[in-house]
Amino acid sequence: MATRSLIAENQQLTRAVQLIQLGARMAVLEAETGLSHERLVRLHKEVTGQSPSKGQLPYSTDWFISWQPNIHSSLFLNIHERLDKSVALAPIDLLIKAWELYREELRIVDVDPLLSITRAWRLLKFVHSDMLCLTPCSRCGGQFVTHSHEYGPGMPTFVCGLCEPPARAGKGKRSGTIH
Ligand SMILES: [Zn+2]
Repeated sequence: MATRSLIAENQQLTRAVQLIQLGARMAVLEAETGLSHERLVRLHKEVTGQSPSKGQLPYSTDWFISWQPNIHSSLFLNIHERLDKSVALAPIDLLIKAWELYREELRIVDVDPLLSITRAWRLLKFVHSDMLCLTPCSRCGGQFVTHSHEYGPGMPTFVCGLCEPPARAGKGKRSGTIH
């Protein structure tokens, strides 16, 4: 029993360090690692040399729907869904793996990740509580993050932000822009 709890604790520590290295906020660490607040603060200082940033997570569902964040969120969620079907991982490890793959796909095309791992975590919470979901674009067939119960039979047809970019789009290369 003692050995087992030692291994479990070690796994929690490993995950916490991984999450801190990827820039996760305290809310994510506290919810997902089971380690105490004090311990996580110490660990955060040890790993990054800095205290964790304080304050509430500001993100509402709207952020994930706005134009460029939506493309990033959709890319991440597609990767997450694909991974979820192909490998058996604990939800938190799935988040870490999917976010690393998202970052890697962007690195290849030289784009900065707009969706932080904390935002990715929030996104999954919104999906699990049925506030956000993936909806296929009626033009390109790609799956994009939308509010739940907003599109479907008898409701508006969904067109994604790549098929119909807003008027302000495409004026110069901005950080995090995917074309
Ligand atoms: Zn489309």
